[in-house]
Amino acid sequence: MTVPSVKTVTAKVLVVGGGPGGYVAAIRAGQLGLDTVLVEADRLGGTCLIRGCIPSKALIHVAGRFEAMGQSLGDGRFGIALDTPPRLDLAAAVRWKDGIVDRLSGGVAALLRKAKVRALRGWAVFSDAKTCTVQTSDGPLTVRAEHVILATGSEPVPLPALPFGGPVLSSTEALSLDRLPRRLAVVGGGYIGLELGSAFAKMGSAVTVVEAQPRILPLYDAALTDPVRRWLERAGVTVHLGARALGMEATGDGHALVVQTADGGTIRLPADAVLSTVGRRPRLEGWGFETMGVDRQGAFVAVDDQCRTSMRNVWAIGDLVGEPMLAHKASAQGEMVAEIIAGHRRRFAPAAIPAVCFTEPEIVSVGLSPTEASAQGIDAIVDQFPFAANGRALTLDAGESGFVRLVARREDRRVIGIQAVGAHVSELSGEFALALEMGAELEDLAGTIHAHPTLGEVFHEAALRLLGRPLHF
Ligand code: FAD
Ligand code: NAD
Repeated sequence: MTVPSVKTVTAKVLVVGGGPGGYVAAIRAGQLGLDTVLVEADRLGGTCLIRGCIPSKALIHVAGRFEAMGQSLGDGRFGIALDTPPRLDLAAAVRWKDGIVDRLSGGVAALLRKAKVRALRGWAVFSDAKTCTVQTSDGPLTVRAEHVILATGSEPVPLPALPFGGPVLSSTEALSLDRLPRRLAVVGGGYIGLELGSAFAKMGSAVTVVEAQPRILPLYDAALTDPVRRWLERAGVTVHLGARALGMEATGDGHALVVQTADGGTIRLPADAVLSTVGRRPRLEGWGFETMGVDRQGAFVAVDDQCRTSMRNVWAIGDLVGEPMLAHKASAQGEMVAEIIAGHRRRFAPAAIPAVCFTEPEIVSVGLSPTEASAQGIDAIVDQFPFAANGRALTLDAGESGFVRLVARREDRRVIGIQAVGAHVSELSGEFALALEMGAELEDLAGTIHAHPTLGEVFHEAALRLLGRPLHF
């Protein structure tokens, strides 16, 4: 019997994983003239583009439009009145979302081609640190490279009592439903639970959130999450804090989520679907990671400040290497590693990585919060400026509960943290990050002319207020 020979390709750089970490690393490596192969088992774009950031923000947009139209029913709002309620066709909304995903995934393929990266579709399995075999549609292919960049990302963590399947959805299934669940129970009041839970509430599901901690979005401080808590209350979303999901039970007309409440009691929440979003873990199983001799740090791959692993010329980036598990961090690390391989002097030491939560209203945090500053023993001054005093916020009907908060070192007025909550504040995150990265002082912000009328003026006024000379307060 003849054993079919496995074709072998060699490259300077092999990138495993085509998410925002891996594809950016590959594009940059290609741009720098490095002979690069990218292996992706699924479609190009990774969690972020195919089943994460982009699909969720598309559905959040649909939900917002639908809710706004519903608010125009009867007497109407802003002089716009509807006589009949809007109808939601979730399957059509999902098709619209899929169109955006297709377009962007195709765009990634084109960018890789332009950078002369060879993209292979298939699951890579390593036999040693520099060699993997990819099951492509044309058969197995062995890839050997001088440098390997691991960017295999992360996957949702299932609760043992609540395995995914049937009515128990991970974010992936929740983003591709063709019918709205009438009653949706969300386990985990973190990023995904609240972004998607709020969107489903806007679309008309009766949503209940079960969160183990005493607060929603425990990552952010209470001042930032309070407006979100108040919105959830107004939207009729029930939130059980300090509560844990114990499992599912069949009921006469479907299922119920069994929950242990903060006082130790047990309640049953009838639900057509349960969205379980209790965190994500690095994807380390099933691709021969254990053959590579690469060290871990806890659940993640251990890396230094250049994303080098313990094995020479093996690099790891993105969700695989730890918090924050955010797309822009993955991309920044990918770009950096490609440049280091090409001989540039780089290190991953950002002044800040912005975090944005796309809830209602949105939250942004860049740098240190007042509590983090004081925990680090920094003598800081803190103040905030409300959206209620900003013309643009009022014209956007967003004046009610937003603010921008600044944290600065007392001794030299250097800005060390910027947080905001309010409609559309995600779009201010770039300006906030730039200010921190450039080492801005309050006078720099105060001396920068901000266009009128924009939400950015709130940032300007927050600086003026912290300097003791607000103009519009
Ligand atoms: P991933 O994007 O997970 O990509 C890894 C890729 O590797 C996958 O495509 C996988 O198929 C491939 N792969 C794995 N193993 C192999 C193998 N052996 N062979 C071949 N291919 C392999 N982040 C934000 O910054 N903003 C947001 O708004 C945001 N929203 C999110 C919403 C949801 C619902 C979810 C789930 C996540 C969200 N995230 C968001 C997080 C973001 O998606 C991740 O931080 C980001 O995708 C991580 O990028 P990565 O390149 O490290 O990994
Ligand atoms: P998360 O860590 O944001 O939230 C998980 C929540 O589940 C926490 O509040 C936790 O206290 C709670 N929890 C844990 N075990 C529980 C239990 N047994 N019962 C009830 N609650 C429980 O995780 P996620 O929402 O799954 O998101 C995963 C990651 O994806 C995020 O950490 C983030 O890095 C990324 N993400 C980012 C964005 C964004 O940038 N806008 C959006 C979505 C996801």
